[in-house]
Amino acid sequence: MDDRELLAIAENIKKNSYSPYSNFRVGAAVLTQSGKTFAGVNVENASFGATICAERTAVFKAVSEGERKIVAVAITSDSDEYTFPCGICRQVLREFGDDGTRVICGNKSGEFKVFKLGELLPNAFFKF
Ligand SMILES: [Zn+2]
Repeated sequence: MDDRELLAIAENIKKNSYSPYSNFRVGAAVLTQSGKTFAGVNVENASFGATICAERTAVFKAVSEGERKIVAVAITSDSDEYTFPCGICRQVLREFGDDGTRVICGNKSGEFKVFKLGELLPNAFFKF
């Protein structure tokens, strides 16, 4: 699975975003070491703190299905700008990824840039 294919999965699920408060739809897809993909959207809540980002939805779906290693994640939104994971999501990605995990940041036009997780979360806090 190449970066563009993973981004297409993220773009496809974005329509399911539940974001009535921000009107900022986000779709994400993770690729695990076993070759499976899991996709997610942001799910907001009237109690804002209960909101979860698309990346974490995708990661938690993967982990819930027994996956433990994420090798790539693609993120996209309706923005003209590239969509980066927030700080909390970078930390969650690091829990199941490593400095080399590919982070594919897309925009609404399907353009993207690829980063290593170690670039986006240097000197990460990690137990293992
Ligand atoms: Zn986030």
